[in-house]
Amino acid sequence: MIIDTHSHLNMDEFKEDLFDVLKRAKEHDVNRILVIGMDEPSNHRAIALAHENEMLYATVGVHPGYVDHATTHHLKDLLKKDKVVAIGECGLDFYWETNNKELQIKVFQEQIQLALETGLPLVIHTRNSFEEAYQCLLPYQGKVTGVFHCFSSDLQDAKRAIQLGFMIGIDGPVTFKNNKLLHELVRDIDLSNILVETDSPYLTPHPYRGKRNEPGYVRFVVEKIAEIKEMTVEEVIEITTQNAIHLFKLGGNTR
Ligand SMILES: [Zn+2]
Repeated sequence: MIIDTHSHLNMDEFKEDLFDVLKRAKEHDVNRILVIGMDEPSNHRAIALAHENEMLYATVGVHPGYVDHATTHHLKDLLKKDKVVAIGECGLDFYWETNNKELQIKVFQEQIQLALETGLPLVIHTRNSFEEAYQCLLPYQGKVTGVFHCFSSDLQDAKRAIQLGFMIGIDGPVTFKNNKLLHELVRDIDLSNILVETDSPYLTPHPYRGKRNEPGYVRFVVEKIAEIKEMTVEEVIEITTQNAIHLFKLGGNTR
């Protein structure tokens, strides 16, 4: 069984054909999927989907791209709901938005505090902001955990994230031929530190690049990691699935 640890099945892109998307996921052995919230409406939708579908789990948070419109006030109640397994996605994005950096940092810190209070892991988004996010987390080393989703910094930073107690999320871009830096990173860090994700509907892997991404395609990420690390696909599935079960405390049967 493969787990897609990062999807946005709560977005309108999946409104029409979610049933078929989940059916295709199963055909690719993807039997568990995390649905990631980004603001209040998408958090509620993630939870509703998780309650309707056995395969789905939810995370709730405030994404750095939404901090101008959303607050963290609603999170406390939602974090108590059944099948909510993490806080996020949260973090810092200094690529799309640089004139609200202080607000982004404040909202991220509020969610780190929630992680401390609840013991839930953080699903972290960073873009051009690894250093700042790292500095926010450093005082809590050993007290909070989670994943740097869609890791986009270099090998050195990946090692620092791991040292901090975090996992590295690997997505569709690893399947792109020219992404040598990411290939090296995957080769050089231990598989015990890697989670596989799609970020559906974004970041579609080769050979479907340009189309809508969906959780079943996480299999292409798994296959590429196996190729880079010269391991079997089965080994990569076994270890990354255990990593996800352990981090998000998914429990139960893994088949
Ligand atoms: Zn995402």
